[in-house]
Amino acid sequence: MPSIRLLTPRLANQIAAGEVVERPASVVKELVENALDAGARRVDIEVEQGGVKLIRVRDDGMGIDETDLPLALSRHATSKIENLEDLEAVASLGFRGEALASISSVSRLALTSRTERQEAASKVEVEGRDMDASISPAAHPVGTTVEVRDLFFNTPARRKFLRTEKTEFNHVEECIRRQALSRFDTGFTLRHNQRVVQSLRPAENPLDRERRIGSLCGQQFIDNAVVIDAEATGLKLWGWVALPTFSRSQADLQYFFVNGRVIRDRLVAHAVRQAYRDVLYNNRHPAFVLYLEVDPANVDVNVHPTKHEVRFRDGRLVHDFIFRTLHKALADVRPDDHLKGAV
Ligand code: ADP
Ligand code: MG
Repeated sequence: MPSIRLLTPRLANQIAAGEVVERPASVVKELVENALDAGARRVDIEVEQGGVKLIRVRDDGMGIDETDLPLALSRHATSKIENLEDLEAVASLGFRGEALASISSVSRLALTSRTERQEAASKVEVEGRDMDASISPAAHPVGTTVEVRDLFFNTPARRKFLRTEKTEFNHVEECIRRQALSRFDTGFTLRHNQRVVQSLRPAENPLDRERRIGSLCGQQFIDNAVVIDAEATGLKLWGWVALPTFSRSQADLQYFFVNGRVIRDRLVAHAVRQAYRDVLYNNRHPAFVLYLEVDPANVDVNVHPTKHEVRFRDGRLVHDFIFRTLHKALADVRPDDHLKGAV
């Protein structure tokens, strides 16, 4: 048996990257989450060749102080939590302090940032190396731009799993759709190979919100949706659910957010399915965009590195609340609403 050795930081990061960086869309997800955590009101996303050649995310958030720049790219370095209590009530999208370290270990990464306090911006660059970053002065308004080039250039085994440019871009687009659905108060633009694919202004009022839903999920959906708005002790559920007449053959228009984070959860899926049980044929799928707000202390988001799963402290309560709310909303739909929704 060979003797035990510590992994180099680079290899440790590359192993960790295996969990969070599956494809270009995973990079986009992490970078946009960082922009949102920084309080951005506007996020511009540019990708080339499905994101394999280039991903650039620019925000007008609070920026990173020059002295913090090298740390931002280190593993287990975060400004978002300090102790276990913070973790148990975490409200930010990030907290693991791993994304930038992981991404920079499998790509050529440059981060340019400026805070309000600084007169000039600074740029830090790494190239899948042992995390020894080089810092130089740069020009940039308050906020941050992260550029990720040549994803997986140094990990050919991972690169082999990438699909066509179109497929990879579809994943990027789906990722932006989720983010744009989760933050109505933020403007987003998405460009692919220099072409504007999505351009969304901040949606400040209910009409703007429905317009955004329309452009992200289709006008048909919003025209056939029932508005949900319910509250119970410690829980709030709002959003839009499609009339049973607007059901789909695939479960492809189902978005469920918990405290602004899109999640997949068996309990939630079951509650929704039950609510539609009597009004939907077996092989049809409901369409919905729903937002659940829970006290962060009552939901654990630290279940999986990609944070697509959560654990509720009182799952039964959450399940019954979702079921009752949707069941009632669907039962309350007047017959002429049904006719209007028939497509
Ligand atoms: P996490 O988001 O879990 O903290 P990341 O590796 O994604 O870990 O980011 C590390 C740190 O870098 C963050 O905690 C934050 O302080 C800083 N950071 C990253 N991206 C941005 C950004 N767009 N704006 C401001 N700060 C950022
Ligand atoms: Mg992050």
